[in-house]
Amino acid sequence: MADEQKKAYDPNFKYDVAAQPGGEQIKVCFSCGTCTAGCPVTDVDARYSPRKIIRQILLGQREAVLSNELLWYCETCYTCSAYCPQNVKFGDVMRAIREMAVAEGYWTPEFLQRVRNVDRLAHELRLDLVRAALRTSSEAGAVSIESAAEVVSDKIKKASV
Ligand code: SF4
Ligand code: SF4
Repeated sequence: MADEQKKAYDPNFKYDVAAQPGGEQIKVCFSCGTCTAGCPVTDVDARYSPRKIIRQILLGQREAVLSNELLWYCETCYTCSAYCPQNVKFGDVMRAIREMAVAEGYWTPEFLQRVRNVDRLAHELRLDLVRAALRTSSEAGAVSIESAAEVVSDKIKKASV
């Protein structure tokens, strides 16, 4: 098989993923879609689907998976892993295929670090917003997040993402 063809379609892709820590169960996925139904990212962008990514891995679509920007959309919240009837640990699979995508040159190590910084900042911002909600919880009607706006915008400006 020519190298280019092999990159686009690689029957060993699923074995490579299964060999990663947490990737062992991927081959028993029966495509029920429970993971996608509970995914908070799918909720805001329907193009992102863990079920579909697993399907692509099982079909050997190595290049399509590793080069796709959707790879970076996962929040690694592990909701999918918690409800999977086949015990597929998709959060771990996602971590593994990100490392593979960097090792195979589709993305740079700097970009991987950048996404880690984004994740950390997102967690900090969530805490700020929850604290703001707690401060305003006694008010009637909608919870205002305006009291957090200043600190949130300051954090975004200072963050090195
Ligand atoms: S919930 Fe589990 S078995 Fe169902 S599609 Fe997702 S990974 Fe596959
Ligand atoms: S770990 Fe990723 S794919 Fe799984 S539910 Fe969370 S965001 Fe979705």
